[in-house]
Amino acid sequence: MNVIDKPLSSSSASGTFAGEIADLFRKLGLSLAADRGSDLAVYSPIDGAPLAMLKMHRADDMDAMVANAGTAFLAWRQVPAPHRGELVRRYGQLVREHKEVLSRLLTIENGKILTEARGEVQEVIDICEYAVGLSRQLFGLTIASERAEHRLTEYWHPVGPLGLISAFNFPAAVWAWGTTVALVCGNSAIWKPSEKTPLTALAFAKLLQRVAADYEFAPDHLVQIAIGDAECGGIIADHPGVSIVSATGSVRMGQDVGVRVQRRFGRSVLELGGNNAAIVAPSADIGLALRGTIFAATGTCGQRCTTLRRLIVHDSIHADFVKRLVAAVGSLEIGSPLEDATHVGPLIDKAAFDAMQRALDRARSEGGTVHGGERIEVSGFPGAYYVRPAVVEMPAQSEIVCEETFAPILYVLSYADIDEAIALQNGVSQGLSSCIFTSDVREAERFQSATGSDCGIVNVNIGTSGAEIGGAFGGEKVTGGGRVSGSDSWKNYMRRVTATVNYSTSLPLAQGVKFDLDID
Ligand code: NAD
Repeated sequence: MNVIDKPLSSSSASGTFAGEIADLFRKLGLSLAADRGSDLAVYSPIDGAPLAMLKMHRADDMDAMVANAGTAFLAWRQVPAPHRGELVRRYGQLVREHKEVLSRLLTIENGKILTEARGEVQEVIDICEYAVGLSRQLFGLTIASERAEHRLTEYWHPVGPLGLISAFNFPAAVWAWGTTVALVCGNSAIWKPSEKTPLTALAFAKLLQRVAADYEFAPDHLVQIAIGDAECGGIIADHPGVSIVSATGSVRMGQDVGVRVQRRFGRSVLELGGNNAAIVAPSADIGLALRGTIFAATGTCGQRCTTLRRLIVHDSIHADFVKRLVAAVGSLEIGSPLEDATHVGPLIDKAAFDAMQRALDRARSEGGTVHGGERIEVSGFPGAYYVRPAVVEMPAQSEIVCEETFAPILYVLSYADIDEAIALQNGVSQGLSSCIFTSDVREAERFQSATGSDCGIVNVNIGTSGAEIGGAFGGEKVTGGGRVSGSDSWKNYMRRVTATVNYSTSLPLAQGVKFDLDID
């Protein structure tokens, strides 16, 4: 047994789950020995206690990593795409075999309830299958040429190393969305996970590295992982050797990363904060709207980018809907995410709890009536931050309602007609996810039309969270405009070539331009 595989309580970490982490890594056939250090303390939100101490990568490590990624890219881009897909297929199979262990690890480090953790691991498996299919479908176009005996085509080549910066709330899926697609497109990849969830990241990355090591076509350093904080992410943003930066996180992070990548004319895909709304129309199926609303508002303890944060309810049903909503949220089981009966696990840390309480104070000062929102003591875990999700009746869409507070706070507004509801829905700077609960086909279509929701995700009779992998995922306005995966977003990871071939004996110029020269 190597040092790190001992229960960590003996040295630098002493929480209830430190020993189990080592055990889970052992079950995966992985070791953390080389990753251990004294730079970064990792905690479990379940009990607020340490899980592990890790070493962080420094600037010179990052330089070496980027150089290695560049070399790996030169080899990998020559491997036929279906063979690249085979690597991803093997990885998906390995993740499937270890689904339960990976889900438990994810819950222990991130705090989402086990069923949601299993869903996230399933998402990794699903995206692998999606990417494998894609590896045989990276198709171009044939375009009608205006010139006789000319062929005009568009096709796609790998673009270069991907640098992927990810947030704590989806510690595996977002990486898999970007990385598996980038790999089948012919790129190498470096992952800078959140400093709050590096253990889950190490497990997923090391499993992929193991598959790559056993795959004859995969070069060394095809997939690397960088443990670090914002500074480490900044190095990726600035580095000219990173062709494409996919960054998922807060708007503040995206404002920094986006500008830094743009300054060097790199390519970025930004997946940033949301402030998602649901409209509940008078014709809605109320039971369905309540269930959809409650999961969307409280799932992952309100820490999804697609979490429902604003509820816009028609005047005629507002009072009754809010009464039922408050009662239902009041009855949710709050507790250990490892227990089957739990609906809502802990917040990630104290900073998240403090931000939630500050937001609730501001809501009160802006005229809101707060239901719930208090800290809940969960037996055995006094150092953790469990909360009752808050439902806040607001007199108007005031300043605090327009902000994304990454915690379970649902602001409730009312509306008189659909134009007003859509104006409220669109009246914030974020543009990620939106939905309407209605049985009126005109309203449903209007909501999805050009004069409806301005978000990247527009749902009818479904909550704002829980997107499937097939559709392009991302949002507009300060959400960043990126589409990290799904649909045709593979094109983000490739460069487009427009090629014209002249197979005639003359040289006609486009647009009829004449340039006659007397040359044989
Ligand atoms: P965060 O912005 O604090 O951190 C995200 C990642 O960016 C981390 O890896 C962090 O180390 C890195 N980072 C932070 N500042 C950086 C900088 N200046 N330069 C380079 N890297 C930097 O976000 P978080 O608290 O981990 O996650 C919550 C946020 O992420 C929310 O706003 C949520 O809406 C958003 N999010 C968006 C999506 C989406 O698809 N749109 C998905 C998940 C999370």
